Amino acid sequence: MINLLNDKISRYTVSQNLKDKGIYPYFRSISSAQDTEVIIDNSKMLMFGSNSYLGLTNHPQIKLAMIKAVEKYGSGCAGSRFLNGTLDIHVELEERLAKFVGKESSLIFSTGFQVNQGVISALAGRNDFLLLDEYNHASIIDGARLSFAKTFKYRHNDMVNLEENLKKIPIDALKIIVTDGIFSMEGDIAKLDQIVNLAEKYNASIMVDDAHGLGVLGPIGQGTSEHFGVTDKIDLIMGTFSKSMASLGGFIAGNKKVIEYIKHHARSLMFSASMTPASASAAIAALDIIENEPEHLNKLWENTAFAKKMILNAGLEIGSTESPIIPIYIRNNEQTFLVAKLLHENGVFVNPVVAPAVPPDDSLIRFSLMSTHTFEQIECAVKKIEEAIVAAKNLITAY
Ligand code: PMP
Repeated sequence: MINLLNDKISRYTVSQNLKDKGIYPYFRSISSAQDTEVIIDNSKMLMFGSNSYLGLTNHPQIKLAMIKAVEKYGSGCAGSRFLNGTLDIHVELEERLAKFVGKESSLIFSTGFQVNQGVISALAGRNDFLLLDEYNHASIIDGARLSFAKTFKYRHNDMVNLEENLKKIPIDALKIIVTDGIFSMEGDIAKLDQIVNLAEKYNASIMVDDAHGLGVLGPIGQGTSEHFGVTDKIDLIMGTFSKSMASLGGFIAGNKKVIEYIKHHARSLMFSASMTPASASAAIAALDIIENEPEHLNKLWENTAFAKKMILNAGLEIGSTESPIIPIYIRNNEQTFLVAKLLHENGVFVNPVVAPAVPPDDSLIRFSLMSTHTFEQIECAVKKIEEAIVAAKNLITAY
């Protein structure tokens, strides 16, 4: 009898094709801290592919908080929040986060992915409706799939199309608009001011995934809702600790009742082990730094403005980014991989992004800033990117 699993796997050739061509860019093994310079294969590389926007992953205060947490609480909780896995520092972190983003209550999960998966599937059921921006993160899509709710995808940041979809849904049906705050590949910002108006008009609720906005947007980094001054109009704010907050885990914030409901219905919370003590303490320490040291946020935006100017001066296409995520559009998959490979050889780490993470014609190099980058590092990387793009074009035409 034919082994169907082996048969299926042997028909999968995508990664092998890239490996055969020498342009496979994934799972690169780093042997240093995630900072502006990393070590790969014993060589130093400039890191422009990190989500550590505030550059805190190597911060001594955060590392010390983690060490102390391990000494006091041990390495793990050996259970879910629901049962034996709730620590006092989990509760402390939840109270701090709710205050920080301007909501009554919050609930932490072991990853941001689990937040979206668990929250969306807990809140929306068979008779409910979800309206998702087409560029939303995969975890939102998966949450929608698990919910069995009727899902409408609206064109990216297209408020006319969102309204067209809202009109199709009965006014008294539960409907939740879910959007990224900052879009993770394109770097543009959801039009929350307009989404709020539409939600009011059509009786919809709003959930914002602020994985990339937290620590980055708003006067002191409270996120996208605060950037627009609409926090009180947003029902649910989701965030993750794996980016600006230099740790691992995620949270959902909202009013007390909705958080209480999620606590008892989100399966990815109830049936999964809680955040490690070290991760929770790191997130608390990151919040301390974010609240008390605005210089990190200021430098991040200085770096972003500097990089954007340099990249535009080089004549490269960056779409409509408004954030430290700068997509450099290449619009050809193979060329995108080749640019990443040439940059890797020249000591610059960037992320090549192709379908399905972006539409097939939008392949891009995702260049992201940290507050700890120096102008010199940025200048050096942009110059190398310019050179790599020219070299990749020449190599492809020579094929
Ligand atoms: N939402 C968005 C927009 C993200 O970019 C990510 C991480 N890539 C997540 C959710 C998931 O967060 P985590 O890494 O904490 O699982």
